[in-house]
Amino acid sequence: MSRVYNFSAGPAALPEEVLKQAQEEMLDWHGAGMSVMEMSHRGKEYMSIAAQAEADLRELMSVPENYKVMFLQGGASSQFAMVPLNLLRGKGTADYINTGSWSKKAISEAKRFCEVGIAGASPEGAFSVPARDALDLNPDAAYVHYTPNETIQGIEFPYIPETGGVPLVGDFSSTILSRPVDVSRYGVIYAGAQKNIGPAGLTVCIVREDLIGETLQGTPAMFDYKIHADADSMYNTPPTYGWYLAGLVFQWLKRKGGLEAMAQINERKAGKLYAAIDGSDFYNNPVDPQCRSWMNVPFTLADAELDATFLTEAAQAGLKTLKGHRSVGGMRASIYNAMPEEGVQALIDFMADFEKRHG
Ligand SMILES: *Cc1c(COP(=O)(O)O)cnc(C)c1O
Repeated sequence: MSRVYNFSAGPAALPEEVLKQAQEEMLDWHGAGMSVMEMSHRGKEYMSIAAQAEADLRELMSVPENYKVMFLQGGASSQFAMVPLNLLRGKGTADYINTGSWSKKAISEAKRFCEVGIAGASPEGAFSVPARDALDLNPDAAYVHYTPNETIQGIEFPYIPETGGVPLVGDFSSTILSRPVDVSRYGVIYAGAQKNIGPAGLTVCIVREDLIGETLQGTPAMFDYKIHADADSMYNTPPTYGWYLAGLVFQWLKRKGGLEAMAQINERKAGKLYAAIDGSDFYNNPVDPQCRSWMNVPFTLADAELDATFLTEAAQAGLKTLKGHRSVGGMRASIYNAMPEEGVQALIDFMADFEKRHG
């Protein structure tokens, strides 16, 4: 068996320790005589797995008491609809900040349900976010939605938008658990699991309790936060195995020292990679240094004709899935929590060697 360094943006690499533990527990979880996949979600054993995972996530993120934590299906893309359906609460307009591909998808989904105000956007042609004091927020908006980390463009907010009394909603799919976050600043935090939490099929939603309970008329039960919150995410069959695996990841993060420790590691990993890119005329990252993502690092080669060779040789060196998103081109290295520092170093070494040979 030889495992590669997998730089996929999502589904993304998982910690090897976690995969090994899951393997050990695969056929017989803690003497239950069955796999977690085969358990009733209402049985004592699975309930304990689910409760432990929630408790660990609450501890890791210091989630305040007045927030519900839900483990749902449907991906972040379902949240693009679930947020307006639950948060409009009689209002007809919501504010969105547009910083890239995922913001745009959230905006077009919201337009099915309400008027969307654009409270700020990345300046045309620039790889950055709007300045903190340039946001044009409507005090009558039902909520403000933004994307703290744009997975495709590799742009990350260096600040949390100030929204006064208007609830702030963050699509944290590609940055959750990368560092501590002040949950109390948010009305809703949501994330698809397949980047920095666990396997695809699970969505984590952290929702302030006072925002739960009033939905737009016609909202399906599966899109109602209250239905899921009241049932502890077991209104229907939850994504049981993904929830379990997320729980193993949470325990792994606790063993690593929690999110403060992850922040230091992630800042170091990203810092090294950006330094290697900036230190060369052969590689380029266009993002404003203030807004560079710790998790997704897009870069181009001086000669795009070499892209295919770069990818082939990288794969031969055990560095996989570096092809950039089709909308951006070039390369993208996603370096979530599960990417070890040695993996980032191996990429940097490979890049230097490639430049020597082809630059
Ligand atoms: C991947 C991603 C999504 C889409 O997630 P799905 O789980 O596939 O719906 C949405 N927003 C961001 C920021 C993402 O990175």
